[in-house]
Amino acid sequence: KRTMLIVRSITILLLSCIAIKLACCFSSSISSLQALPLAGNLEFEDVHYASKDFGNRYQLIPLAVLHPKSVSDIATTIRHIWMMGPHSQLTVAARGRGHSLQGQAQTRHGIVIRMESPHPKKLQVHSVDVPAPYVDVCGGELWIDILHETLKYGLAPKSWTDYLHLTVGGTLSNAGISGQAFRHGPQISNVHQLEIVTGKGEILNCSERQNSDLFHAVLGGLGQFGIITRARIALEAAPTMVKWIRVLYQDFSAFTKDQERLIAADNKLDYIEGFVIINRTGLLNNWRLSFTPEDPFKASQFKSDGRTLYCLEVAKYFKLDNKDEIIQGVNETLSELSYISSTLFTSEVTYEAFLDRVHVSEVKLRSKGQWEVPHPWLNLLVPRSTVNEFAKGVFGNILTDTSNGPVIVYPVNKAKWDNRTSAVTPEEEVFYLVAILTSAVPGNKDGVEHILKRNQRILEFSEAAGIGLKQYLPHYTTREEWRSHFGSKWEEFVRRKSRYDPLAILAPGQRIFQKAT
Ligand code: FAD
Repeated sequence: KRTMLIVRSITILLLSCIAIKLACCFSSSISSLQALPLAGNLEFEDVHYASKDFGNRYQLIPLAVLHPKSVSDIATTIRHIWMMGPHSQLTVAARGRGHSLQGQAQTRHGIVIRMESPHPKKLQVHSVDVPAPYVDVCGGELWIDILHETLKYGLAPKSWTDYLHLTVGGTLSNAGISGQAFRHGPQISNVHQLEIVTGKGEILNCSERQNSDLFHAVLGGLGQFGIITRARIALEAAPTMVKWIRVLYQDFSAFTKDQERLIAADNKLDYIEGFVIINRTGLLNNWRLSFTPEDPFKASQFKSDGRTLYCLEVAKYFKLDNKDEIIQGVNETLSELSYISSTLFTSEVTYEAFLDRVHVSEVKLRSKGQWEVPHPWLNLLVPRSTVNEFAKGVFGNILTDTSNGPVIVYPVNKAKWDNRTSAVTPEEEVFYLVAILTSAVPGNKDGVEHILKRNQRILEFSEAAGIGLKQYLPHYTTREEWRSHFGSKWEEFVRRKSRYDPLAILAPGQRIFQKAT
């Protein structure tokens, strides 16, 4: 009994010492940070918004939030932490829109840098006297604001994500994939130049020609090597309208065969995606909300009767003066496909409405209180050679009911990805994005734990079946898992980390490296 008492007292004493040490650390950190010469400001009180993200499952409270007014505010803050050396606990997380899923843009007791500008800036669009048009934007710019601004010049970026209320820095840290990626590659393949603040607080410009190792490191680099403060993004002439088409398949291999045939033809279509419809009785109410077919009556006649169906979703851009010619080309392309013939649903919308289509769902879900719920999403890149086996195991057995959220499936061409970047993909020439985007809506029978277990089953099945997939927006907790995720790119990833952020100050929420203390 006496020994127990002594052990308890020693434990309490030790914990108190640690708490006092931490409190001293924090108060000395706070006073040294407060003394920094910044044009913007460091907020120490109102920091809770920076401890949440779209995933709504992880919560790390930071010490402070930096609201920078310039790139030098960011550099000054990081340089200060770098100069404090390995003994300081401080880390730095750039936060774009905070649409990460597992705390990737958070830091416990560190500094969150609010990259998203409260007021979108007037962007510099360059289209005259240059070989190809481009726009210079801040790292915290939202893609939706870039779209609005570039359209004023009749131009637009080439490669998108499905949802545009995300920041440039946030998507370039992953890849940025959507239905245009088969033609143009992901967003990281459409950037000419970056301005970066490294983990030592240096401000560096980089491109294919200048500091190219840093340029490639940062693209798809999960925020590990530097903070993207500016980006030069490739533009193309923007269309005005979009022919938007959905057709259905009963057979997964017929669906993917057509998808692959379409992505092999470079310019027949401008956008190719697809999704799985599992165990639904009606179709219309359950489709992603923004698509309104021209013939809703015909669409309402089709009953899936609980079967699993596969929906190919494609789009072709046009301007009003070339509509007839374009529509004829689209009809020819569709005539070569093997979808269920009664299931051709079409729609015509403006280019802007098409690109911002997920925002329509966001507004509807927000109004029902279903946007800010936990999102235990699973995003995978599956090689073409195993995608049929994956579908058999996952859509046939594991995912028998996905009432809350789409399951997106579409192929992309590896040739459009630059292997020098940090992004990790399967090695095959064609691989599929499979995005299982389930929301854990309160009151629904599938709670977070159930969905997480199901995700785990999918990963375990894939491992056992030798599917050879890679996670997109990856989430791992051990060094071994990260090493295996990066595979042959791991050594280079570690080398780049020790070169650009040797103290592991940046993006601790990815849980790849730990700050040495
Ligand atoms: P945050 O969540 O704020 O940050 C993500 C990571 O990047 C963090 O580690 C952060 O520290 C780091 N980071 C942020 N800004 C910078 C910067 N300026 N410099 C360096 N590092 C930085 N992805 C696709 O590819 N295709 C899609 O179609 C797609 N659709 C989506 C739809 C929705 C509704 C949501 C929520 C996400 C979607 N995503 C998609 C995923 C999305 O691209 C990533 O989650 C992206 O990181 C979100 O951007 P963000 O600005 O919110 O980044």
